[in-house]
This record gives sequence, C-alpha cells and structure tokens, in this order.
Amino acid sequence: MAKTALIIGGGFAGCAAAHQLALMGGWKVTLVEKQSELGAGVRTRWYGGHPFTFGPRHFLTPWEHVYGFLNEYLPLRLLKHEFITYVESDQEFYNFPIHRDDIDGMPDREKIDNELEQRVGLESAKNLEEYWISSVGPTLYEQYINTSSKKMWQVDDNREIDTFSWSPKGVTIKEGSRDAWDSRFSAYPIAPDGYNSYFDIATAEAQVMLGTTITDYDIPNRSVVLNGEKKRYDIVVNTIPPDVLYEFEHGALPFVGRDLHQMVLPMEHCFPPNVFFIYYAGQEKFTRLVEYKRFTQHKSPTTLVAMEIPSKNGKHYPLPVLSEIARAQKYIDQMPDQVFSIGRNGTYLYQVDIDDCIAQAMEIREKLSS
Ligand SMILES: Cc1cc2nc3c(=O)[nH]c(=O)nc-3n(C[C@H](O)[C@H](O)[C@H](O)COP(=O)(O)OP(=O)(O)OC[C@H]3O[C@@H](n4cnc5c(N)ncnc54)[C@H](O)[C@@H]3O)c2cc1C
Repeated sequence: MAKTALIIGGGFAGCAAAHQLALMGGWKVTLVEKQSELGAGVRTRWYGGHPFTFGPRHFLTPWEHVYGFLNEYLPLRLLKHEFITYVESDQEFYNFPIHRDDIDGMPDREKIDNELEQRVGLESAKNLEEYWISSVGPTLYEQYINTSSKKMWQVDDNREIDTFSWSPKGVTIKEGSRDAWDSRFSAYPIAPDGYNSYFDIATAEAQVMLGTTITDYDIPNRSVVLNGEKKRYDIVVNTIPPDVLYEFEHGALPFVGRDLHQMVLPMEHCFPPNVFFIYYAGQEKFTRLVEYKRFTQHKSPTTLVAMEIPSKNGKHYPLPVLSEIARAQKYIDQMPDQVFSIGRNGTYLYQVDIDDCIAQAMEIREKLSS
C-alpha cells in the first residue's frame, strides 16, 4: 500500500517536494495550500499584458544537477546578469557587488583607497556593520550598505543584524567580470508564463487542496485536522514558518514583508542590457526596481518595472539575526523523524532561494530512499 505524505504549503518548496515524491513512487501525497493558486511569489501573473512575479525570481544556482533537473521539466534560458546600485551621494550608478574599477572613478577614491589600506581583519566582526566596515571601509559602507541594509531589514541599527554570510554574495569588492555571480547558472524559464507549468507538472500526482488552511497541528504524531477531520501521515513536509506548527510556544518568528508596485513605461527597455534589477542604497522608500523583460524576454513596445517597498505585509524575509535563527531551530529540532521542514520559511533562512528549495526536496528523497 502507498505511504502517505502531507505537504504544508504549495510554494516552490512544497511543489518541489511533491515532485520528488512522485518521482520516487509509492507515495500518496496531499498538498495543502492556503491561497487559491500554487507557486506563491514565484507564480507569473500579468499586468498591462506583461508577465511578472512578486520580485525578480530568476533562477541562480552553483549546482549543475539542480539546473539540469529543472531544465529537464521546464526549459531554461541562460542569461548574463549584472546588478547595479544607485549611490545618491555620487549621483551615479555603480556595480553591485562593489567593483574595483568603479572605485577608481569615484569622487572619494583617495579617501576610499586609504581606508581600504587600513582595513583590519574580518575575524573580529560581530555584526553586519562591523563586517562591512572592516571589509570595505567606512565611506563605501556609508554609500552602499548602511541605509540600504536598515531599509531592507527595517532596523534602526545594523548592529542588530549579527549574521551576514548572505550579504556580500560571496565577495565584498569584486574585480574582473561584472557578472553578479561568475560561477553559477543564471537562467529564467523560456515559457511566457515562467515557472507556472512546473507547479502543475510537480504536483500532477498529488491531491492538491487549494484555499485550505490546517486548523490543528499535532506534529509529534504527524497528524493534523483538515476540513474538520483528524488525519495522520507517514511523513510531513513543512514549508511554512515552524512556529505556526507549535502554536508559537517559543515565541513568534519575525519577518520583513514587501509591497510591490508595478508600472508600465512607454519605451521598449529602460535598464541597461543584462541589468535585471537596480538597488537603491539611500533614503528612497524602495529597495530595488526590477525590469522583468530583461529576464522574461517578453516582446512589447512598452516595458514593465516594479518597485519593492519593505513593509509589514507578508512573511517574505526571515531576519538574519542569530537569536531568531536559534528560535526557529528550537522548533525544527523538536520535529520528529519523518517530519521535514524545508524552503525559505520552513528553515527560517533568508539565503534559501529557488534552487535550494529543489535541492532540499531532493535531499528528502535521498533520505527516504536510504
Ligand atoms: C521579493 C522576493 C524576491 C525573490 N527573488 C528571488 C530570485 O530572484 N531568485 C531566487 O532563486 N529566489 C528568489 N527569492 C526567494 C525564493 O523565491 C524563495 O526562497 C522561494 O520561492 C521560497 O519558496 P517556499 O515554498 O519555501 O516558500 P513560499 O513561497 O513562502 O511558499 C509557502 C506557501 O505556503 C503557503 N502557506 C502559508 N501558510 C500556510 C498555511 N498555514 N496553510 C497552508 N498553506 C500555507 C503560502 O501561501 C505559500 O504558497 C525571492 C524572494 C522574495 C521574497
């Protein structure tokens, strides 16, 4: 008889888990999603005839097998990809990560070069502010990081952010290529509706319950109340914040939300070639602008740009604060064997992206197969 699996949440991680169980065979999968559609923010929607997602959502991975896997089910187009940042004090757009060649053209170059020579080691850095000042000096920290990080994380002081492995994208000052990530696959689905068909492929064999919220969780017994009925499963794959499953018994996990504002502009393109999004590092209310066409390659005489504004709406960004990560881990540690918590919110790790969701779903399959 088939074993039973419950998947909580139908975002990328939940769908990827359903797909791996289907490929394994022998599983009867129920996927519960509170919204009326699968995919969450990765789902393509349309505005003014243009396809868009909630934020950029392009596919980046260092792992060839993860790229190859997705590409098999959802053909991908490889893309060149640069980030730029607007630095208001210089009235200039510069590369991000900070690029060595840009520094040479900056009005403050002598001061910055002096500061770079006097840098101390990173080993003693205890928070984001110390990390960045010791990596790039106070002037570049002020121009690129200070205000943008406070805006991104909705904090008054960057010393509150005490984990920062995510922030430099692996590098603080880059040399050579201006590609955002040199050694990774940077891609986007070729299909005009982006990832949407993948959500259907991945869940084709599952019982998908849309517009459904579980009211009662009994995680130690891998059991929940669904539509008024108590059900027990052989395995549970959770992709929602783990505090919800335990009635917040160790306290609620904090998140930063986002509002997205779309605008169609009367021109074919407005960003430089290869630039998908532009960060705004200063007092602007928004963190970045995205020009979707740059990666969707949608053809139109107009272009769609969206603006991301940090807000309290939605659980989009788990805070990179060690005490909160430890709080999340407390919840995860008390999950029994055969309950897996994956995805960005399921692990409470900001650095979990689309490729990580696939890799984590593959790991579940490996564990269940061993
Ligand atoms: C603005 C933004 C831009 C991003 N851009 C990129 C990018 O360019 N490239 C990249 O690789 N990654 C990007 N990411 C990260 C990546 O998209 C996420 O890591 C990934 O989509 C997370 O998927 P998930 O399934 O873990 O979570 P989610 O997408 O949050 O899915 C969880 C699902 O669970 C559902 N749910 C919640 N509570 C319940 C409940 N109680 N019962 C049932 N269902 C519930 C939700 O409705 C949702 O559908 C971005 C993230 C954000 C926020």
